[in-house]
This record gives sequence, C-alpha cells and structure tokens, in this order.
Amino acid sequence: MPHIESWLEIPAGSDFTIYNLPYGAFRANDGRLHLGIAIGAKILDLHAVADAGLLDDICDRRILQAERLNPFLALGREKWKALRLRIAAFLRTDQAADARLRELNASRVFVDQADAKMAVPMNIGDYVDFYSSIEHATNLGKIFRPDGEALMPNWRHIPIAYHGRSSTIVIDGTPIVRPSGQRKPPGSNMPVFGPSTKLDIELEVGFVTGPGNKLGEPIPVEKARDHIFGLVLVNDWSARDIQAWEYQPLGPFLGKSFATTISPWIVTMDALEPFRTNGPVQEPQPLPYLRSGDRWSYDIALAVDLSTKRMRAQGSTPKTVSRTTFKEMYWNMAQQLAHVTVNGTAIRPGDLYASGTISGTTPDAFGSFIEMTWNGTKPIRAGDETRTFLEDGDEVTLRAWCESGDFRIGFGKASGTIVPAR
Ligand code: CA
Repeated sequence: MPHIESWLEIPAGSDFTIYNLPYGAFRANDGRLHLGIAIGAKILDLHAVADAGLLDDICDRRILQAERLNPFLALGREKWKALRLRIAAFLRTDQAADARLRELNASRVFVDQADAKMAVPMNIGDYVDFYSSIEHATNLGKIFRPDGEALMPNWRHIPIAYHGRSSTIVIDGTPIVRPSGQRKPPGSNMPVFGPSTKLDIELEVGFVTGPGNKLGEPIPVEKARDHIFGLVLVNDWSARDIQAWEYQPLGPFLGKSFATTISPWIVTMDALEPFRTNGPVQEPQPLPYLRSGDRWSYDIALAVDLSTKRMRAQGSTPKTVSRTTFKEMYWNMAQQLAHVTVNGTAIRPGDLYASGTISGTTPDAFGSFIEMTWNGTKPIRAGDETRTFLEDGDEVTLRAWCESGDFRIGFGKASGTIVPAR
C-alpha cells in the first residue's frame, strides 16, 4: 500500500485511518440522524459537507442528508467509489481538495466520536444469519447431538442459514436484557419457564447489501461484488437453553430473536480490498451455482473481550477470551448471496447477512461460550471469578481489525452488558 497522510491528526493505533473511511449514522445537534465517516477520533459529518455543496457532482445531496444509508446503498459501486475518493481527497495532505474542507467551519464539519450517539446506520429490511464455520458447526453438532453425526449431511453442500429478526438489531453499547423462556431441565420430560441460565454470544461478521435484484432473478456468484457494500461486527446473542428446547424441527427462534448487536461503522469492501485472500479448499466441490472462484475470503483478525461487574469495580482491564480469524470461514459471501437469491428471492439495499459464529480449531479461538466452556463443563477464568455462560453485569465486546505493517483498518467494537431479566 502506498503511504498516505492526512492533515487531520489520527491517534496511533486508531481503527479509523485514512485507508478505512467507514460509514455510520449519529444523532446530530439538530436532533436528526446524520450520516458520517469515521476518521481518527472524529466523525466527518456528511450532511454538513453535502450542505456546503461539495458533493453535488457525485449525487443528489438529499441522498447524503437522509437519516439512514439505504438511498446511498442503492446507488451502487461506482458512486460508492466516487464518494470514497472525494472524501479521501479532502482528508489527504497531498491533494489540493483539502483546502475546500478546511475552509468550512471545522466545528460544523467534524464531530468528536466520544460525544456522538451512534445509531443503526441503515433500515434493515431482512436479516439472515448463516452457519458457515465448519469448526463451529462441528462443535455445536457434538454438543447438541452427542449421539449423532456432528456435521449434518447437507452442510458441505448448502450454506446453512436461518432468517433472523431485523427489528431487534441494536447498536454497540445497548444493554441486553436477559431473556426468559421455556427450557427443559436435563432428565425431565416437562419444560419450565424462567430467565435463561445459558446466555451466550456469537462472534460474527455480517455484510450489508447495496442494490437489490428483481424478484425471480438470482444474483450469480460473479455478480455478488456489485451487491455487497461493506461489513460490520455482529453479536448474535443466544440463549442456549431456550434454543436447545425449541430448535427442532424449524430452527432458532426465541433463543436468538431478543437482541443482536452490531458495530456502528460499516467498513467498505473497497477499504478491505488489500486484505482479500483465498478461502479454504471446499471438498466436495459445491454445485455450479456456488462455485465462486478464489479470493473471496478476507484476512480479518477478531477478538472477544469479557469484563465482569467485579472486574470493572476493581479497575481490571477486560480479559480477551478468544482470538480468531475470518479468513478460514468455509462458505464465503459470494456463495452466501448466490444461495440466498438462487430461488428468486429479492434482496434490498441495507439487508444484513451475518456469517455465523467464527470459530478456529482450538478453545482459545472459539467464537461462543458454549464452545469455549464445552456447554458449561469447562469454566474459564475471568479475574478472580470463573464463567460458563454470561451473568448479569457481564460486558462482552467484539473487536476486529486488519493489519499489514503500519497499515491498519479496524471495525471499532460491538459491545453489550447483560442486565437482569424483567
Ligand atoms: Ca449465529
């Protein structure tokens, strides 16, 4: 990567370097949501930049002054690229365009991230969650079906998924109320009702869609890139006891639908381009409509941090309980999108398609507590406490970043604290 500098100060180790420029939405002083781009510790207010007429040659300013990204997502890759280049030109030391931005009142165009209240940046019409890590699918198969085959016979042929609940997708920092529901105690034939005793996380990355397709016209793998805007972190909070009792025969429902947390900044596929890489070999070869070719994986490092209420009271730093990578996921985004639409399903701008739990091969790389603690049988340490599943007051933070030498882009975080059942 060529080295690029910004005239704006970027703190060392920042996720939001000039190479990144992710999109989000924040509550502005006028009470409305403004679209913005994260840069260093600041947000560049796109609403204000559009107001100054600096982007009128790229698109109608009403698109950049909408409260959510959906109209911009609908414009497609050429417009996305044009705006990205323009914003970079404003912020680069070596390009003349920066003077135009500097002329604007800086306090009107830049907002401190520390002061900003972020919102889910798009209206999410549909949310689908895949199951694309072979390690995770195998682990859960062993735990939920100890007497059967760990991997179902369809798993290597179909990117397995379920349809999630978009209306309960929440932004980083939103408290998570412990769900109540039915669970069946071991050895009993009758269910009981009450707060979940096996509340868990799922470490995932999700893609946000751009332009949709017409109903009845599938998106082939070779066109997938035209329909994928960028990625966010996803925590698919899961109540394992509710899930275990309800999931057969139709799949996850109330064990998942109570909340899903996403990170506030959408990291674009353009920013991630330097980190494209080959995925794992698929054996057996999938059906022709799922053959995506190479270089559809992305080398993204991931971490899960746990901070208990006691750890915070003691001033302890959060404990990193898992570190893994996105690049080993068995099914890739092109295959997932081709599969979603192969029956003619129409997608729309702003849909969210999550990867499924990202697990590596060892317990310190598993993306959920049910795997890390093997369904609660092997507790892990957190400060001077142990954990199997989450307790009230526990805060879980997902992080992700890509690094190569001194070149770094990051996702920020997706965090949530468990509060007692109501
Ligand atoms: Ca999931």
